[in-house]
Amino acid sequence: MKKILIVGGGSSGWMTAIYLNRYFNQNRSNFEITVLESDDIGILGVGEATVHSIRFFFAAMGLDERELIEETNATYKTGIMFKNWMKPENGQTHEYFHPFEPNDQTDRFDVSTHWMLGERFQSERYDEGVCASSHLIKSHLSPKSKNSRPYSGLVPYGYHIDAVLMARFLRRKATEAGVLHIVDTVTKVKTEKGSVTAVFTDSKMLEADIFIDCTGFKGLLIDQLQAENWESFEDVLPCNRAVAIQVGYTEQTDIKPYTLATALDYGWAWEIDLANRRGTGYVYDGSLLSKEDAERELRAHIGEASKGCTAKHLEMKIGCRKQFWIGNCIAVGLSGGFIEPLESTGLHIINIGAKLLSTHLSSSDLNNNVRLSYNKAMSGVYQDLKQFIVLHYCLTDRDDNAFWRKAQASVNGCPSLGEKLGVWRSKICEYLDLAGGYTTTFTDENYRYVLYGMGHFPSLSLDVDVAELERTRDAHDKKVAEICHQAVPHKDLISEY
Ligand code: FAD
Repeated sequence: MKKILIVGGGSSGWMTAIYLNRYFNQNRSNFEITVLESDDIGILGVGEATVHSIRFFFAAMGLDERELIEETNATYKTGIMFKNWMKPENGQTHEYFHPFEPNDQTDRFDVSTHWMLGERFQSERYDEGVCASSHLIKSHLSPKSKNSRPYSGLVPYGYHIDAVLMARFLRRKATEAGVLHIVDTVTKVKTEKGSVTAVFTDSKMLEADIFIDCTGFKGLLIDQLQAENWESFEDVLPCNRAVAIQVGYTEQTDIKPYTLATALDYGWAWEIDLANRRGTGYVYDGSLLSKEDAERELRAHIGEASKGCTAKHLEMKIGCRKQFWIGNCIAVGLSGGFIEPLESTGLHIINIGAKLLSTHLSSSDLNNNVRLSYNKAMSGVYQDLKQFIVLHYCLTDRDDNAFWRKAQASVNGCPSLGEKLGVWRSKICEYLDLAGGYTTTFTDENYRYVLYGMGHFPSLSLDVDVAELERTRDAHDKKVAEICHQAVPHKDLISEY
């Protein structure tokens, strides 16, 4: 039996282990899978918001949703509220919401096009006009009804999840399913002819056929195989530092079923509400702001609640590997790459990496074509995400300091996005504009939530009938009212666990 050794026991190590084990070892054991992690080093332990597709990962792993939620202090997430990403308008703070909800196809057009052609265009926020999720969160409602089945809801949803507890939960589930577990620290990596042959701890030598590097930003194994194997995205995404503070709740705290991303002076702050505490953090440009000033700004942003709470400072490498798979070693998770967490995509990319790895490792001949295919696909995933995140920055009209002026200019480092933005001034952004990349997560619908949320509209000349518009609007309003009627209050759902 071939051996897979996964070095690293953070989210990436355990998600990959549980996935590969389920994929290959369900009926008979094809691979012996071991996770080696260091207690001395520990895991990053941030990364607490997800996109909605993570549900399908958990479901496919046969994990019970209720148990997952209970064990990780999770809450439900229907999307991200972006605040202050544009200048205030008429004295009002700018806000827009990016839900996971697709656009309904209504009549001739989808609801998105109908919204733009109707009179609501003038008076209503885009997301409120086209989806139910925005109305759910306004009324503190969860995405589920009393009758929702596990992993399904009235609208698509993800989670806010305690990262440390999730790694522990997955570790328990993976080891129960047969994954082997070693706690030790790798001190040396042996390579030969472009592959890893063994890793050493103080007391052991561990050999394997396949090594999966899940050691976090350091990329302990992959870095031994090829120099200059990193493509930095910091020219267009300069937020490369973070400071995180966990705060407690008061009795009045409303546990939000959405992530809040508030633009600050040199980046943005997250607010992620778990069942028992709120995770907050400031992702900022370390070339313009010191650690001390970042912490000060975050504390001022959080207010009283941050008093007495410790801050954790983090450095981030923004970019990805040029080669994720070299010889017999594959980098998954932070060791493969990282794009700042504005759209909560860390776990999602691990999910994609693990899935792709299983299909590629299924080959009876792990030749260069297989590696090339994996590398090309993963590279596409990161490039695609890079473009989507740059979109959030380059559309801003904020020019209050060097950071925001840099944000506006970031599109210059993403020429294909610049070109598309020009086109999307003249026509609707549609799926085929994005095809050719690897738009596995963010499609035209997601792009439109950001484009229209930030005031980037196409100029259209379309003949519409008032009756048709009214019909569509009434049908949409009815649907939203029905969903809101069925939805369980978020706090009731959380207190059930
Ligand atoms: P780590 O958690 O760093 O784990 C590394 C593992 O390697 C550990 O087990 C460690 O013990 C082991 N290791 C290291 N060296 C050795 C050694 N020498 N010997 C043995 N073992 C070793 N993602 C999201 O999906 N949503 C978010 O909202 C989100 N927010 C984020 C916010 C910030 C500020 C950052 C930095 C990241 C965020 N992420 C988010 C990304 C997410 O945190 C990571 O994708 C996730 O934690 C995976 O990390 P990892 O397992 O690759 O690395």
